[in-house]
Amino acid sequence: MKTISERDQQVNWHPYTQMQTAGPPLAIVKGEGVWLTAEDGAQYLDAISSWWVNLHGHNHPYVMDALRKQTVQLDHVIFSGFTHAPAVELSEALLDVLPTAHEKIFYSDNGSTAVEVGLKMTIQYHANQGAKKHTIIALRDGYHGDTFGAMSAGGRGIFSTPFENHLFHVEYIDVPIMGKEAESLHQLKEIIKHLDVAGFIFEPLLLGAAGMVIYAPEILSEMIHLCKQNDIITIADEVSTGFGRTGKFFAANHLSHKPDIICMSKGITGGVMALGATSTTAQVYNAFLSDDKSKMFLHGHSYTGNPLACVVAKASLDVLQQDDTWTAIKRISHQHHEFTETINTHPQVEDVRSLGVVLAVTVRSRSDETYFNYLRDRLYNFFIDRKILLRPLGNVIYMMPPYCINTDELNIVYTAITDLLDELQLVK
Ligand SMILES: *Cc1c(COP(=O)(O)O)cnc(C)c1O
Repeated sequence: MKTISERDQQVNWHPYTQMQTAGPPLAIVKGEGVWLTAEDGAQYLDAISSWWVNLHGHNHPYVMDALRKQTVQLDHVIFSGFTHAPAVELSEALLDVLPTAHEKIFYSDNGSTAVEVGLKMTIQYHANQGAKKHTIIALRDGYHGDTFGAMSAGGRGIFSTPFENHLFHVEYIDVPIMGKEAESLHQLKEIIKHLDVAGFIFEPLLLGAAGMVIYAPEILSEMIHLCKQNDIITIADEVSTGFGRTGKFFAANHLSHKPDIICMSKGITGGVMALGATSTTAQVYNAFLSDDKSKMFLHGHSYTGNPLACVVAKASLDVLQQDDTWTAIKRISHQHHEFTETINTHPQVEDVRSLGVVLAVTVRSRSDETYFNYLRDRLYNFFIDRKILLRPLGNVIYMMPPYCINTDELNIVYTAITDLLDELQLVK
C-alpha cells in the first residue's frame, strides 16, 4: 500500500515548492501542542507555528470544542443581507482588543485578501469623496501576500518577477531600520510633497518574509503622524504581527500614532481555520455611506464571515486573553532574548535579534542572496533530521513558536541551532 506521502506526490502541487527537487512531503497524521506526528510515528516540534498561524498549540481542547459545538448549529450562510452570532461576537471582541478606536470589521478569507480589502477601502475612500489621490506608498522589502494587489504593494523581487508587467505602480521607501530612519522619513516626505498619496501600507515593526527585519516603533509612529496630517490612510498589515507575536496584542500597541486600517489573518483563528479580517475607523467607513449605491464598498467573498471560522477565532481570542497566555509570551520573549546574548558572538552568526516570541539568526554566508541562499536547504534538512520544523528564509533561521511551548521544548530548538552553528564552523 502506498503511503500518504507517496499518493500526495501523484496529485498535489505544493506552495513555494520546487516540485522537481523537493522530495516527498512529510505526511502528518496528528497534532497536539507543539508536536506534529508523522505517518511513520516520528514526532516533529513545530517551532514556526505551521507558517505563523498557530497560537496555542495544535488541537487546543477549548478551541476545538468551540468548533465542535458550532458544527451542529450553523455551517455557513451568505453574509450579504444576513448575519449570525459568531460574526457579531467576534467583531465585538476584536474591536475591544484592537489598539485603537476602530468601529467596523470586514471579513475575508486569508492574509492576502485582508490586505486587498485594506487597499481597496483606501482607494475607494478617496474616490468616494471625489479626491484625486491614487498613489500607494509601501516599504521596499515588504510582503503583503500573493494575490495581485497584495503583490503590487509588496517589495519587488524573486517572488514577483514573472508578474512584473501586471502589477500596479507603488512608490517605495526604504525600511527605516536602525541608522536609516532619517533617510527613510525623508523619502516619505518627498513622495508626499510631489504626489497625491492615497495610502501608506506597512508591516509594523517586523518584516516577516523579508527575513524577520526589525525596526523601531518611534519612527513608524512619526511616519503615521505625517500621513495623518496629509489625509493619507495608513494601513498596518498585522497578518503576521497580530495576536501577541511582538509581545503585545498587536504591533500597533507599541505605537504612539495608530493606523486607520488593520489587516489580520494567520493567528486570528489560533491557526485552526482560514479567516481574514480588516478593521477600520468611523472616518473611513462613513465615506462609503450615501444614497448613491455605487459608493458602497464593492468587494466580497463567498465565505465572508464563515460561522465556523468566527467561532474558532473567538475561542482563540478567549485563550489569548488569559493571564497564563501572557505569562507564557513574556517567558518565551525573555528566553529568546537570553539566547540571543549567548550566541551573538558566535563566529557563524552575522546577526541575531528578537522581538516578542520571534527570534531570528542570520547565518554568515558567502553569498548576498537571501531567500535563495545556498545554505537554505542544508539548514532546513539539518533541523528536519533533528525532528524540528524550522523553515529558514534563506540564511535566516527564525523561530515563531506557539505560546504553549515549554522551557524544555525551547531548549531543544536552541540547542539544535547552536549545534548547527558549531557544525558550520567546523566545516569551514
Ligand atoms: C503571510 C502574510 C500575508 C499573506 O497571508 P496569506 O494568508 O498567506 O494570504 C500578508 N501579509 C503578511 C505580513 C504576511 O506575513
